[in-house]
Amino acid sequence: MKFIQPRLPYTPDALEPVISQTTIDYHYGKHEKAYIDTLNSLIENTEYDNMSLEDIILNSDGKLFNNAAQAWNHICYFFQFAPNGQKVPGGRLMEKIEEQFGSFEDFQKAFVEAGATLFGSGWVWLATDTSGQLCILQKHNAGTPLTDGLKPLLVFDVWEHAYYLDYQNRRAEYLNKLWDIINWQVIDDRYNQ
Ligand code: MN
Repeated sequence: MKFIQPRLPYTPDALEPVISQTTIDYHYGKHEKAYIDTLNSLIENTEYDNMSLEDIILNSDGKLFNNAAQAWNHICYFFQFAPNGQKVPGGRLMEKIEEQFGSFEDFQKAFVEAGATLFGSGWVWLATDTSGQLCILQKHNAGTPLTDGLKPLLVFDVWEHAYYLDYQNRRAEYLNKLWDIINWQVIDDRYNQ
């Protein structure tokens, strides 16, 4: 079974000026596509051929894990954005954020700080355990909360390919701008699922 790269739920220029069309063309059109193409070539005629993407991630390592997890992580990333989405978390998630982080603004600061201080390439995640407890995680390379048994809710990509065309070395500025295009409806749905 071949994995198909899902089409974006917005046009390539819809996230400007936060993320330019050029960055979408490269990041979605070339980087994410390459992870999915490589994943497909690695699983062809193997025991992984009929597994879900999540099961491949949980049962692989090395090159296969890297490409499968990068495919999953990028889908999680690109599908949380909208040009005119819900600007703040809904009631249930907002209450939990305020309980654990003090305020929504304090949570945003802690999340950006985790992304800005991650050394090298990787991802910063908001995830939840089965009891609804939230945590911010720094993951290197293709790392994902799925392998910790956690449910990913929100993710910022801190690989340079995610921001260098638009922000050069200003990673913190890129991370702070991402709040403008997060559609909290998507994050709420993940949390309440
Ligand atoms: Mn990326």
